[in-house]
Formats: sequence, C-alpha cells, structure tokens
Amino acid sequence: MTDFQGKSVLVLGGSRGIGAAIVRRFAGDGAKVTFTYAGSREAAERLAAETGANAVVTDSADRDAVIARVRDSGPLDVLVVNAGVAIVGDPLEQDPDAVDRLIRINVASPWHASVEAARRMPDGGRIIVIGSVNGDRIPFPGMSAYAMSKSALQGMARGLARDFGPRGITVNVVQPGPIDTDLNPADGPMKDIQHAVMAIKRHGPAEDVAGMVAWLAGPEAGFVTGAMHTIDGGFGA
Ligand code: NDP
Repeated sequence: MTDFQGKSVLVLGGSRGIGAAIVRRFAGDGAKVTFTYAGSREAAERLAAETGANAVVTDSADRDAVIARVRDSGPLDVLVVNAGVAIVGDPLEQDPDAVDRLIRINVASPWHASVEAARRMPDGGRIIVIGSVNGDRIPFPGMSAYAMSKSALQGMARGLARDFGPRGITVNVVQPGPIDTDLNPADGPMKDIQHAVMAIKRHGPAEDVAGMVAWLAGPEAGFVTGAMHTIDGGFGA
C-alpha cells in the first residue's frame, strides 16, 4: 500500500479490467479518483459505488472530449491513460476506419491527455500510460495495427519525459503481457498460443498491473522516467 491521501488521480478508461483494478488500488490507498468510461455505464456505476471514485462518461476516440475532461479535472497529481482497444486480422482486409479509430484511442488520446494534464500538473506529477509488451514483440500475425499503436507510446514517453523532466513530472509506460480481462480472457481462444511463448504460462491478474502503476505513482519512483515497465510473465523474454 502507498499513501495517496490528498492526491488527485484521473484514470482514462476505468470501468473494467486493468483500469478498474487501477481505480480500486488508488481509491483504496486514499486518493481522490475520477475515472472515465464509454460504453460500460452499469459497470462504471457499480465501481463508483464500491470505491467512492467519481465516474464520468468520456469517449477516448473524441479528442476534444478527452482534452476537456482532463482540463475540467483540475490539477492532477497522477494521470493514468488505460483506455485501449485491439483489432485483430489481416491488414489487407481491415476496415481503415477501424484502424484510424484505434489510433485515436490508443495513440492520439494518450498524447492529448498527457499534454493537457501537464499544463496544470504540479511539479513531481506522474503520467502513466498503459502500453503492451506487443510494443516490443508481436510473435503472431494479425496484430500489426495494435502493435504499432503500443510502440508509438514508447516514443511518446521518451520524448515527453524530456519535455516535462525539468518540472519533475515523470512519464512512463506500463507494458502488460496477457492479463485476464474481457479483452483477453484467461480461458479465451488466444490462451494456448500466448502461453506457448511465455516463461510463466498463465494470464496475470489485473491487480498486479495496478500494483506497478501505484509504484510508479508513488514516492520511490520520482527518478524513474521515459521508461517502459514490462509485466508479462516472460512473453517478451
Ligand atoms: P478491457 O477491454 O477489459 O477494458 C477496456 C477499458 O477501456 C474499459 O474500461 C473501457 O471502458 C475502456 N475503453 C475502451 N475504449 C474506450 C473509449 N473509446 N473511451 C473510454 N474508455 C474506453 O481491456 P483491458 O483491461 O484488458 O486493457 C486495458 C489496457 O491494457 C488497454 O490499453 C490494453 O491495450 C492494455 N493491455 C491489455 C492486455 C491484456 O492482456 N488484457 C495486455 C497488454 C495491454 P468502456 O467499456 O466503458 O468503454
């Protein structure tokens, strides 16, 4: 447990899966948490009632809505950009609009949210983006667009770390491997092919990812920036 009493945290995409675990972790550690959702209103309302966090609807595909949400959240101590989508399939057959939407949610939104947050973030603030081990390694066909989007976050974090470093604001990417969520269920169709390339042949729990995020947001990580933090059961080893 880290003491986040008095800290203001915004989690973009917090209604389910890894984002919900991050909301639970920060709220449990005393932070004042706001999280966004797009489609999962019931899950968001349940999580808000459970944790005391504030749930607000904001579509991460909508640049202006994301910027307004960050701006209206006031000075943030911690921004976590978790919202992400995956599309799988032959790039020759993929709908270009679906690829553009993925880029808006997985790349453009993290960029605009991070820049807007940094405008009013106090010195020492934390920006944490959820990438993927697929930004480093994509051992299967059909996931190029997703891998491209997660690799883009690496360059973003390295660059923004330098831009915001003079203010002590850190920018980091957490890169999960297979984590048991609706997006990638532990008993889903991809499990065998994923486990085959892992050192620890199972899906990880979302709570472990939340623990890494909390460490990066905490007092011991003030010297950690522009870095990728992989938590993947050896998927990328
Ligand atoms: P889930 O699909 O289980 O949950 C996704 C979350 O993001 C939901 O809360 C969803 O909210 C929100 N979200 C999605 N699209 C939007 C949008 N347009 N606007 C606002 N919120 C949105 O995914 P995971 O928890 O598995 O994944 C979370 C992050 O972790 C993603 O960035 C993903 O790429 C990454 N990741 C996941 C891995 C895994 O194995 N699970 C592995 C590596 C990375 P709502 O339902 O309300 O729209």
